[in-house]
Amino acid sequence: AAKGDGRDRWEMFAPGMDEALHERHTLARDLRGAVGGGELRLFLQPLIDVETETRTGYEALLRWEHPTRGLIGPDMFIPLAEETGLIVPIGEWVIRNAFAQAAQWSGGQSIAINLSPVQLDSPNLLPTIVNALAETGLDPALVEFEITESVLLHNSDANIQMLNRLHDLGLKIALDDFGTGYASLNYLLTFPFDKIKIDRSFISDLENREESRAIVGAVIELANKLGMCTLAEGVEEAGQLAKLREHGCRMVQGWLFGQAMPSEHYQPVPARSAASSEAIPIAAAQTS
Ligand code: C2E
Ligand code: MG
Ligand code: MG
Ligand code: MG
Repeated sequence: AAKGDGRDRWEMFAPGMDEALHERHTLARDLRGAVGGGELRLFLQPLIDVETETRTGYEALLRWEHPTRGLIGPDMFIPLAEETGLIVPIGEWVIRNAFAQAAQWSGGQSIAINLSPVQLDSPNLLPTIVNALAETGLDPALVEFEITESVLLHNSDANIQMLNRLHDLGLKIALDDFGTGYASLNYLLTFPFDKIKIDRSFISDLENREESRAIVGAVIELANKLGMCTLAEGVEEAGQLAKLREHGCRMVQGWLFGQAMPSEHYQPVPARSAASSEAIPIAAAQTS
C-alpha cells in the first residue's frame, strides 16, 4: 500500500529491512510523543559528603515510562534523542522539572543535571535555563550541570564560551565520567570545573587493583590542587568508601547510599541542615 509519501514507502520496505533499523524507527516515533505524552520521569540519586556522610543534594536521572515497554533507562534512548535532535525538547523538560522540584526542597539541597553536547550547541539552552530560574526562583548556586569530555572534543571554543556563560549566571559545572573516553588531563585546564566526577569503572576495582587506586589517588590530588571538588561515582561497598576517604575524595554517589528513585522516595528524608542523627538513614540501613 505504498502511496509515495515517505512513511508509506518506509512501511512497504520495512519487513525486508534490517530489524534494528526498523526498531530504531519505531522507537524514534514513540520518543517524539513521549514529552508531550507525559511519559518522561525524573529519578533522583543522593549525592553524599564523605566527611559528614550526609546528603548534599541529588542527581536527576531520566527515565522513559513507555506505554507498552515499561520503564526504559537513558542509555537506551538518549543516543537516539541526540541523533534526532529530540534531546533539545527532552532536555528542556528535564531542566524545567528538575528546577521546579529543587525549588521546593529545604536545607539548600542541590540538583545536578546531565547536559548533552547537542544541548550545548542549541540556541535554546540559555533562554531555557534563564526562564526556568526566573519561573522557579531557584538559587543558581544550587544547580550543577554535568558534561562529559565529548563536549570539549568538538566545537570546543563555542562550548567553552557557553559553559562560561552558565558560570556567569552562578551555576556550577561538573566534568562527568572522568577517566573514560578520550580523557586527557589537558581537559582539566580548558575550563575551571567546579567538580570532577570519577567514573565508576575506577571505583569498582578500587579494593583489589593497585593501578586503580593509583589513578584515583592521583586524580583526587590533582583536582584538589586545581581547586576542584571530587566525587566518586558508583560506590557500592563500604570498603570502597573507606579507600576513597583515605585518598581525600570529597563526595560519593552510589548504591551504598541509594539508587536513583522516584522523587517521592527521597523527599521526606531530612536535608543536610538536619541533625546528624537523622542524616542518611538509607545508608545505615543498607550497610549494617
Ligand atoms: P551518569 O550521569 O554517569 O549517571 C550515573 C549512572 O550510574 C546512572 O545510570 C546511575 O543510575 C548509575 N549508578 C549510580 N550509582 C551506581 C552504583 O553504585 N552502581 C552501578 N552499577 N550504577 C550506578 P542511569 O540512570 O542509567 O544513567 C545513565 C546515563 O544516562 C547517565 O550517566 C547520563 O550520562 C545519561 N543521562 C541520564 N539522565 C540524563 C538526562 O536527563 N540528560 C542527558 N543528556 N543524559 C542523561
Ligand atoms: Mg551524570
Ligand atoms: Mg557519570
Ligand atoms: Mg555515565
